[in-house]
Amino acid sequence: MTAFNAFGAGSTPQDVSYLLQNTKTPQPVVDGFDESKLDAIPWQELRSSWLEIDLGAIRNNTVVARRALSAGTRLCAVVKADGYGHGSVPVAKTALAAGAAFLAVATVPEGVELRKAGIIAPILVLSEPPATAAAVLLHYHLLPSVYTSEFAIAYAEVADSAGMSAPFHLAVNTGMNRIGVRYDQVIDFLRAITFHRALKLEGTFTHFATADCPEEFDFALQFRRFQEVIATMRQFGIDPGLVHCANSAALLRYPKTHMDMARLGISLYGPHPCEETRPYYDLRPAMSLHARITAVNTPPMSEGVSYGMHYRSPGSVKICALPVGYADGFPRALSGQTSVIYNGRLCRQVGNICMDQCMFEVDMRLYGSSSRLDPQVGDEVILMGSQNGACIPIEELAARCGTIPHEIMCALALRLPRVYR
Ligand SMILES: *Cc1c(COP(=O)(O)O)cnc(C)c1O
Repeated sequence: MTAFNAFGAGSTPQDVSYLLQNTKTPQPVVDGFDESKLDAIPWQELRSSWLEIDLGAIRNNTVVARRALSAGTRLCAVVKADGYGHGSVPVAKTALAAGAAFLAVATVPEGVELRKAGIIAPILVLSEPPATAAAVLLHYHLLPSVYTSEFAIAYAEVADSAGMSAPFHLAVNTGMNRIGVRYDQVIDFLRAITFHRALKLEGTFTHFATADCPEEFDFALQFRRFQEVIATMRQFGIDPGLVHCANSAALLRYPKTHMDMARLGISLYGPHPCEETRPYYDLRPAMSLHARITAVNTPPMSEGVSYGMHYRSPGSVKICALPVGYADGFPRALSGQTSVIYNGRLCRQVGNICMDQCMFEVDMRLYGSSSRLDPQVGDEVILMGSQNGACIPIEELAARCGTIPHEIMCALALRLPRVYR
């Protein structure tokens, strides 16, 4: 018996010389096409599925939030995760033009991207970066969230040696137990780091775990702890800087949480944080999902459709294929559980959603001669969004697969191109 060896009989994993001998340097393809011209072809000519981003909706939602806030409260637009999949730069520019004064991101590279796009508004990084990011934070004027003395001192040292101050926001853990200095250790923490002359406390914040829930006990406890932290800091003569705690749910439901600034994330993009806010605010969804039909089949009665053939044709239906699948972030859990909008009418999605494609059914039986649908390759379909009163809201898609709109948005943006309106 000889052991199986991926590198072939007689060679060891280290001995790859035979591979090198057989490897030729790849040659550029020589044909009649100019690669730079090919690269300039718009994506619309290369693929038939896309996200539409309605910047008017972002503007509307910013204004709705602004109106909910008192004049003295700053609005911070949370554009982390590439603006929840909507594109952080266009969203940030639109929100700032509509009244936001501050931006928040999750990571240092996300902040750098905004600066390189010419955005000069203050930017808060909502987590503590590695200390190795200190110079980048300082150069691009990104405010880190701070909750460890190791980071604080390292950051201050880099600032000091560059002759700069080291501004930061203090993250306080009031009960979510994700990040932050625990609410009863804030004074000790600040005492341990404020000997460093470069450090400059410009803001103090916390984050709610349950501001969107009907049950208010945990929310109220977090808010009370936060108010006590701020009061104690002031008693000790420490200026907390900008005091902020509200996310979308708290911004829309609890005016007392507004304080100096409120951080608007999910509702900037349209979804309500919870059912409780729906009757009171006119939020508009910014993202919709579109595709063109790539194939039309008329399978005989009882023939199956897609992997597993969990759907079988009842006859008199056309099965249309769309170039959208779970690798585009269209969840496979929605298989047979959703609809698409074709010509202003809802049509059932049928069969398992594949990696890159899915199918829907158009019933050809005549209900009235004027309303008969005749789907053709190239026709546009909406998988998420609305048209002529037919509506497939992202909240509904998320609920059907046991998640929240945030996750659907982020996943859709990973491969689908965006069109801005
Ligand atoms: C993501 C995030 C927000 C925005 O929350 P939404 O519920 O989407 O409004 C606010 N603050 C922090 C710290 C966050 O991480």
